[in-house]
Amino acid sequence: MIVIPENILTKYQTNAPRYTSYPPITNWNSISDGNGNGNENIAKEWFHSLINRSESNGNGEIELQIYIHIPFCKYKCKYCGCYRIPNMNPLPIEAENSYIQAILEEFEIYINNLSSSFSEISLAGLHLGGGTPNILSNATLTHLISSIFSKLNVKSNARSNLKNNDFLASIEIDPRLATPEQLQLLYNLGIRKFSFGVQDLDQNVLKMIGREQTQQTQQTQQTQQTLENLKELIKYLREIENTSINFDLIYGLPGQTKKSMKETVEKVLELSPDTIAFYSYAHVPWHAFDQQELEKFPIASGSLKRELFEVATEMLTSEMLSANKSYIPIGMDHFSKQDDLLYIGYKKHNLKRSFMGYTCNLAYVTLALGASAISSSNNFFVQNEKDIDLYKESILKQKKLPLIKYYQKNAEDILVAKVIEELMIYLKVSSDLLEKLKQCSFWNEIDKRLQDLKSDGLISMQESGPKSTLEVTELGRVFLRNIAMAFDYRLHALSIGTKKFSSTI
Ligand code: SF4
Repeated sequence: MIVIPENILTKYQTNAPRYTSYPPITNWNSISDGNGNGNENIAKEWFHSLINRSESNGNGEIELQIYIHIPFCKYKCKYCGCYRIPNMNPLPIEAENSYIQAILEEFEIYINNLSSSFSEISLAGLHLGGGTPNILSNATLTHLISSIFSKLNVKSNARSNLKNNDFLASIEIDPRLATPEQLQLLYNLGIRKFSFGVQDLDQNVLKMIGREQTQQTQQTQQTQQTLENLKELIKYLREIENTSINFDLIYGLPGQTKKSMKETVEKVLELSPDTIAFYSYAHVPWHAFDQQELEKFPIASGSLKRELFEVATEMLTSEMLSANKSYIPIGMDHFSKQDDLLYIGYKKHNLKRSFMGYTCNLAYVTLALGASAISSSNNFFVQNEKDIDLYKESILKQKKLPLIKYYQKNAEDILVAKVIEELMIYLKVSSDLLEKLKQCSFWNEIDKRLQDLKSDGLISMQESGPKSTLEVTELGRVFLRNIAMAFDYRLHALSIGTKKFSSTI
């Protein structure tokens, strides 16, 4: 286990961005020019960035990654910081239908615009996130997914073969709502990666965070289930084969102890998902108000919170585990078995990091559909309206993209974004990126911060000659967000440590 010196912990425990985008969303511009034209002007710029030939593959094709945000949830988890509409129990049919209609019409707006510039539009990946995508009825899931596929070019063999690097369709699953029949339907529709929101498997912790893993029985009673239901779902997917299973887990939740964490990881090892996303709980009650209710419980922070992560990491990567059971750590907080696409992508240097986490998908455009969703190209971000009624009105009545925020990157932002992405995935910065950074006007400031990180033992640098390199040390891995901050020349114009962001540890 890494021993973190107390002075280093005190120095680097601050609030910082998670760097799922660069620059972080706090730097983006709001769209309002007072006369209602702002949205249309930004939409034009956004489309321009999509058809910019220097960013496309130059042969009349464009490759897309599509993200669909389903904001509805059946329950309200108190720790949740996502944009969601909870307590939809049941989800009204009208709300479901009109929202999906808006998503498909938003998709049509994109396809109509792109068709005039590209002879072929192909799909490199599809991800349904939320909220809770599997709250949708089987008929709606079928309509939504098959409508997207029917408009775009996806090779049928790519769609059915998980090991094919050209395409992957994935979905976030709330295990409390899933059934084997639903998983089979999703598989038949082309979904191959199933990401289960597990978070923890200790009943006490789950109760505190408002996420008792209960499932509605046919007799309409709520039954305690957790492990049993999860086991059944995993067993079912394993029998289908050719699927990849991910668990989302969180450390730092109220009530978690080293003992409870060990017990949770023991159960996770038994279920043996292919990948694990092991996130740090982001306690931001000034932004996610439901989290205020959690403050009456003990919440681990600082070195104790870090120990929860270390306990789990040791178990997941233990040499005592057989090769097909153990995990390889990737980036800041992901773990992969060695035969999963995630690790294969890592080895091939094909991973990306985005709002969706780490993905092995190299499409340079992500079109994100739905309320609050964030789309991106190489040099542009746009965010959709969060209010679901305004979102639907913009699409269904005004027939225009419901954009509320945007950011157009300059060349220096693009460079820093690449550096931070490389750091967050591969824990190093390659010499060519470092050499380019040295040409920037803000390099001296960055260099000063790097020298400080180096003297604290968080990074090692080879600085002689043109082939300079930077690598994150074992201790530095704990402070990856702080290291990324050293390159964030825009953040240093703001005040670091403000309550805009969650804690780095
Ligand atoms: S954690 Fe997931 S299921 Fe719970 S409220 Fe948030 S989005 Fe919904």
